[in-house]
Amino acid sequence: MAGPLGLVATQVTRPVFEGIGPAGRVLFYAAAVVAMAVFVWGVWHRVRKYRIGREAGRGPTIREALVRRLGSTGSGASVTRGNLATGVAHFFIFWGFCVAFGATIILTIDTDIVRNVSRLFAGHSDSFFHGTFFIVFTFAVDTTGFAFLVAVIYMALRRGVRRPARLGYGRAGAPAGGYSRREMAQGDWLFLGFLLAILVTAYLLTGLRILGQHMPWFTVFSPFGRVVAEMFSATGVTPAEAVRAHTVLWWTHATLALAFIAYLPYSKAMHMLTDGVNLLATDRSETLRLPAPPPGRPGYREIADFTWKQLLDLDACTKCGRCHEVCPATAAGAPLSPRDMILDLRQWVDASTGGITLLDRERRPDDTGPVSPGTGVRIAGDVVEADALWSCTTCMHCVDVCPVGIEHVPTIVQLRRSLVDEGTMGPTLQQSLQNLATQGNSFGKSGRMRGRWLRELDWPVPDARKQHVKYLWFVGDYASFDERLQDSSRILATILHDTGVDFGVIYEAEHNTGNDVRRVGEEGLFEMLAEHNIAALSEARFDEIFTTDPHTLNALRNEYPALGATYPVRHYTELLAELLDAGTIDVRPLGHRVTYHDPCYLARYNGIVEAPRRILRALGCELVEMPRHGVDTFCCGAGGGRIWMDDDLLTERPSEIRIAEALSLGVGQFVVACPKDATMFADAVKTVRADDRLVVRDITLLVAEAIAKPAEPGLVGANL
Ligand code: SF4
Ligand code: SF4
Repeated sequence: MAGPLGLVATQVTRPVFEGIGPAGRVLFYAAAVVAMAVFVWGVWHRVRKYRIGREAGRGPTIREALVRRLGSTGSGASVTRGNLATGVAHFFIFWGFCVAFGATIILTIDTDIVRNVSRLFAGHSDSFFHGTFFIVFTFAVDTTGFAFLVAVIYMALRRGVRRPARLGYGRAGAPAGGYSRREMAQGDWLFLGFLLAILVTAYLLTGLRILGQHMPWFTVFSPFGRVVAEMFSATGVTPAEAVRAHTVLWWTHATLALAFIAYLPYSKAMHMLTDGVNLLATDRSETLRLPAPPPGRPGYREIADFTWKQLLDLDACTKCGRCHEVCPATAAGAPLSPRDMILDLRQWVDASTGGITLLDRERRPDDTGPVSPGTGVRIAGDVVEADALWSCTTCMHCVDVCPVGIEHVPTIVQLRRSLVDEGTMGPTLQQSLQNLATQGNSFGKSGRMRGRWLRELDWPVPDARKQHVKYLWFVGDYASFDERLQDSSRILATILHDTGVDFGVIYEAEHNTGNDVRRVGEEGLFEMLAEHNIAALSEARFDEIFTTDPHTLNALRNEYPALGATYPVRHYTELLAELLDAGTIDVRPLGHRVTYHDPCYLARYNGIVEAPRRILRALGCELVEMPRHGVDTFCCGAGGGRIWMDDDLLTERPSEIRIAEALSLGVGQFVVACPKDATMFADAVKTVRADDRLVVRDITLLVAEAIAKPAEPGLVGANL
């Protein structure tokens, strides 16, 4: 049958081992067995490494993800965020690879099973690789393969011509003896080169085969292969020459494909196998409420302390540099880059478990740091430097931008726990932790002074331990003790009082919630603070908690439930926004041109980005967004206990970088909704000598200014 109506005809097919004789087939199968054996051994070695890790408790996560997320895994959605073209390219690479892999399986089933079994039992060779099935198969493979090829070319051009800075692999903290990551870059090119060579030879092969068959009509369903055939023909290649060249090229293509299979588990290409699993197993909530230390251990000391998910994280890293690019510690010149930490740990774990890697290592002149396996090496301190670990603000931006679901923050905190256990920490941090242990606050002030700021109010604020209140205000350390912030606290109290909001506090019974204590790695102190607060709150009578401090909000909302205490809790901006929306607070339009800084623990951790903006809209302010806003906000540098540490290692503080970002907008006011932010940015505008151009104001002060009768004139427009 030689026309479109003959789609079911058995002649509409193509030979599979065209031009390859019996000896050639035997040779091919022998090489395939060797390649598969090398592949399986490499994968098994990786799996054995993950099995060293502890249980991660991700069974439910994977099950839920399989149902909910399978559609998006491989969609490039996680990669697309922030870079559409790269995401689209990954989409075509992933699905192009899947289709090519599926096509190979189908051909193997037809050629090696169906034909042989039918020959054995029916006496003739049968096949399903013809007719309509063949047409659909050919079209799918040809078109997805071409998209795959274009995507790989795009990625190569991006890496070789555009050269985004984050693909440069420069370390955040250069080791004293120097280092080289040239091999990693070579490994990237080897990976891309492999894919390109396999795809290009595949199309050349298809073109030669079509030309050798004298271009039968049904090859139009292999549109790109047909174009290649036309090109060969146009350059004078005859069908006979095409058949001869096809045999040579077939071996080239087969050798490349088998070599790629063997190379895969030992190289950067491994991420093609690990990333899908890692994305299914990733659980963002593990960063919101940190996991406990390993049983019977204060923190991570050896590979067996890691969970299998954390070991898989190390192999999943594609070195894309997104985390490196957004990390405030890296930007501030600290010796920390989340990418460096993952790569250092990966290299050390591989070296310690006898892993074989091809062009995927950092080299150093001396054999120190992440390349030294063996006894006596401390993971926290040697493999990852203590200064790097202490530089993290736990802002979670790395976790959020990682396209393959790596959870850096829980690993950093587990390593910090080891440092805390051995007493490796700076004196200011040590002092703050001592204050927290003895007084329940980091200021070292007597707990009895916690409610002193309330004395200047004209009316008594109810004690929620003595009477029922609708809202319990968990004020937090900074809003209670920092004298620069107490005015803002009093103004908020006055606004709520004047509006008739029924609220109270628990005075000295409130202690620091321990959110940042936990992120520092002081697990015992966190538990002590949490137990105290849970007991204090159990004595109080309230319907709901609101808090001034996003860190407190995170602990109460995400950490305390694991200790058996669950509360309805929200941020004061949510309460103010609700009152403004309901018209309970009567305001006039301010007309200020402002920018707003999203606190990490409010926006990124807890998704509260709209309430502060609703307030600003209600106050008639023109909000000019900074480039990094909402869940993509840039950290002020205070989180994770950084506010208790010195900044000696920084070249520029994150808060100063942020103020520079705001200054470029030409606004006059920098609005904050976190007491720590207020102090960090008030200091930053002074150190960058911008306090005559930019005023840092808590959002409460704007509400007070907009109220027809300002609560405390003189304060409403003041810088801190
Ligand atoms: S949590 Fe923030 S500071 Fe820490 S490594 Fe990640 S991006 Fe950097
Ligand atoms: S950890 Fe994630 S974001 Fe960072 S380099 Fe690796 S893959 Fe990219």
